[in-house]
Amino acid sequence: MSEEKFRNDAKTVLKFIQVYCDEKHKESEKESKTVELVYKEKNLNEKIYFKLCKNCENTFFYSYKKLQECPHEKKPRCRKCPNPCYERDKWKELARIMRFSGLRLGLIKIKKVFKISNFS
Ligand SMILES: [Zn+2]
Repeated sequence: MSEEKFRNDAKTVLKFIQVYCDEKHKESEKESKTVELVYKEKNLNEKIYFKLCKNCENTFFYSYKKLQECPHEKKPRCRKCPNPCYERDKWKELARIMRFSGLRLGLIKIKKVFKISNFS
């Protein structure tokens, strides 16, 4: 996929996980972190920030890594991917998060976001 697509998808998934964590998990268990976007061993010169609990952080890094490793030149929607890379449980968890946060972010935005993400 293009760098731009990677950038977008990484930020979209983070945004959704952040909304979910903000609603569901205790502030005292969260830690602030900064991650530099790297794709195909190239530093994209963009930092992303988050404040997540350990569990949500793991979920984010899992997705982020899968995104980095996605072999498709033209990335299909994950749901329609011919060789899905997510483990079943992780997939279910992320789908749940995306649904939850999608509703929080509002139905109009959700459609737009779901178009650029892959979890519809
Ligand atoms: Zn959390």
